[in-house]
Amino acid sequence: MKWSDFLKVIKRNKANGDNVESVIRCAEKFHRHAGIEIPEIDGDVVVETGHQPNFLPYSGTFKKAFMANFLKCTDGIIPLFGIYDYNPATARLLYQNRVPDINKNGFKKIGFKLDKKDALRRFDQVEKPSRERWVQEIEKINEIYSSASTDWIIDEMEKSYKLGKSFADVNAILFARICNYLDVNKVFFFKYSDLQKKGVFLNEWMEMSKDVRNFNRIYNAVVIEKNIPNGRTNELTMAPFWYLCECGGNTPVYYNTIFTAKCPICKTTYEFNSIEEVFDRLSPRAVFRNLVFSKGLNTSLFISGSGGSLIYGQISNEMYSKFGIERPLVAYWESSDYYLSPVHRKIIYDISRLYGEEFFRINIKRKRTEWIEQLKSDKKFKGYYQYSHTLIQIAEKVFSLNYSIIDLLASANVDEIAEKWRTSLEKAVICKNEFYSVVSDVDFGGKNYYNWIIKLANESKVEDPANLLGG
Ligand SMILES: [Zn+2]
Repeated sequence: MKWSDFLKVIKRNKANGDNVESVIRCAEKFHRHAGIEIPEIDGDVVVETGHQPNFLPYSGTFKKAFMANFLKCTDGIIPLFGIYDYNPATARLLYQNRVPDINKNGFKKIGFKLDKKDALRRFDQVEKPSRERWVQEIEKINEIYSSASTDWIIDEMEKSYKLGKSFADVNAILFARICNYLDVNKVFFFKYSDLQKKGVFLNEWMEMSKDVRNFNRIYNAVVIEKNIPNGRTNELTMAPFWYLCECGGNTPVYYNTIFTAKCPICKTTYEFNSIEEVFDRLSPRAVFRNLVFSKGLNTSLFISGSGGSLIYGQISNEMYSKFGIERPLVAYWESSDYYLSPVHRKIIYDISRLYGEEFFRINIKRKRTEWIEQLKSDKKFKGYYQYSHTLIQIAEKVFSLNYSIIDLLASANVDEIAEKWRTSLEKAVICKNEFYSVVSDVDFGGKNYYNWIIKLANESKVEDPANLLGG
């Protein structure tokens, strides 16, 4: 399928103007706070995407915003990016991520640790790290990359730290500002917590949650019928949203004759009759969010990640019609970036040096056979033999793991990244299954290295003529 055909398919739902207006008001507030320009509103077809405000997230998160921006090239589309700042702080990616490193894990961590208590809070209720810790982490990142190419990111980290009040804010602002460098300038970024404060979608919430048991019955039936992997059924009395305790705790809510909630941190209990009374303290669970937003905005297309969120997408997909909601199409961009970061280059160099051969001429079997001969006179060759396997195993990890965007940003010019992503999207293969997959990898000149590493890794496991590798 081509883009032109795809764009015809998605252009069907006419956006719900009043709610779109309200979301855009929240976006304007965020853009002003983050110091980025507010795009012009032009259109009546909502393309929605979003993510939680992770700390220097994977490039895949940026690619959601990038793809939404890409679609805006077609007239009439309003691309919205929601920042799920009101999610529970349990996900580690909210405050730390990985960069490649030459060790047995293939990575080292950058970022921060949260107190156990903070992990039970809502993320927008978690304070930003101390100035001292933030500077310390910036210095660590500076040391890892120690190149002029990352200066601008360090600058941006400084700015975002100053602008953001909470940890979620700092991450969200940094994310949106980096997006801007990547030419993402037509997307409206907004924080979900702002929607709650402004009462956006209150009517949709009220309608969708007026019969909690019925909601859960429908939900559970889908999980069972579709045999959703890792899909859990809900207790019938569980409300499809969380309540924010005074202490910042993210609190599950139940409904019998009234709504009740008991905070997991401070054990305070809350009761309320109507969600209207406490709307600014509520946040939706994932499937409920999909339903409320699609109903509220009349979304045409939702850009999903290719991972876990698709599970909720599968459940939601079956629920829309039960609530009389026009089902939005779902698309995701499945894409790897093949680039060589400083660590990639280092390990290529190390492998070449150990094997005494230009990287693409390495022949594992031949070299190990040579070492067997040599180790008759010198035991050190046994070490070479064994390390030649260890090093390639590390390389296999380093070349296959997903890392923070900072690694890509330190390895390629930001304009080049935007350009390559764009041309890759233009040429993408779009396939229709339950969701639309947009498949296109991006080669920054590293793909042949990645392929060669995989080939070496496979050979290294079997080419053991002296039987020294214990495989
Ligand atoms: Zn509490």
